Amino acid sequence: MTTEPLLAVSNLRVRFRIGGVISALAGRLTEIEAVAGVGFTLERGQTLALVGESGSGKTTLARAVNGLQPAASGSIRFEGRELGNFSNAGWKSLRRKISMMFQDPVGSLSPRLSVRSLLAEPFAIHGLSGRSLNAEVERLLALVGLPRDFADRYPHQLSGGQARRVGVARAVALDPVLIIADEPTAGLDVSIQGEVLNLLNSLRDRMGLSMLIITHNLHVVRQIADRMAVMYLGRFVEEGETEAIFQAPRHPYTAALLSANPEPDPDKVHNRIALPADVPSLLDRPSGCEFHTRCPFAQDICAGQVPASSALGTSRLTCHFPLDAGTRAVKTIATT
Ligand code: SF4
Repeated sequence: MTTEPLLAVSNLRVRFRIGGVISALAGRLTEIEAVAGVGFTLERGQTLALVGESGSGKTTLARAVNGLQPAASGSIRFEGRELGNFSNAGWKSLRRKISMMFQDPVGSLSPRLSVRSLLAEPFAIHGLSGRSLNAEVERLLALVGLPRDFADRYPHQLSGGQARRVGVARAVALDPVLIIADEPTAGLDVSIQGEVLNLLNSLRDRMGLSMLIITHNLHVVRQIADRMAVMYLGRFVEEGETEAIFQAPRHPYTAALLSANPEPDPDKVHNRIALPADVPSLLDRPSGCEFHTRCPFAQDICAGQVPASSALGTSRLTCHFPLDAGTRAVKTIATT
């Protein structure tokens, strides 16, 4: 039995060429680095959430893991094999093992196809038409808690929650081992969000799935992820066990994100860290710690020296001055 993690990513870099006016403004620079040296492992049955503001690189990272975005350098190993070494035929079989759930629950479903056709499609794509497709469709509908007669509906006849369930059914149709889900609850009411997350959690347990979740919704993270990684300008600034990070974020950026998350307990004191500036451009990365232009705890060294990655409790983070205990530190700075 292999001891390798299901997924092992190390020093991954993804770059995009830029052109036109942006390139001219940037002088000689023709590339931006959207993922800038990221590493992590994902064990079987584990869920990792990637969190961060728009443009932090989390979607690009997930697309690289799924082979939709080429890596400039670094390593992505899946079940012990380097993804870059897979042939086209290898990728086709890999697509059965790594399944992607896209963000827009209704828009990601072809409007001209019935639910039956949508659920049968993955089998046809992989040449598995010999199976009893009606039986598979019924199995998948039952798995995601939809009645049989939904097979004859079309996407415009589904609510957002029902469409998301169909999306989940498509994602698990071919018994994958890893699901990559981009904002799995986007556009759904809070109560429906909870139903979808419960469904994903129960499928994970029943099918032994691993999940990589991309989200900016921290309630989702807490409800579904064993571990979380906070991204800033294409790098992990803090990664560790979800509950430990929620209890005591050690990186100031993590603390700021968590403080902006509305607290469900109305009696709990809520101190919000107001970050002073916009996210810097990838064309003009700040020196030293790249968060120093926005960090309420920045000191002189922060602008000049890149902080090393270090372990603290169950987390790894990059900061010269990690917070002792998140809640205590949060109260020392301005509240909104
Ligand atoms: Fe803030 Fe300095 Fe830590 Fe960066 S290294 S997060 S600027 S305290």
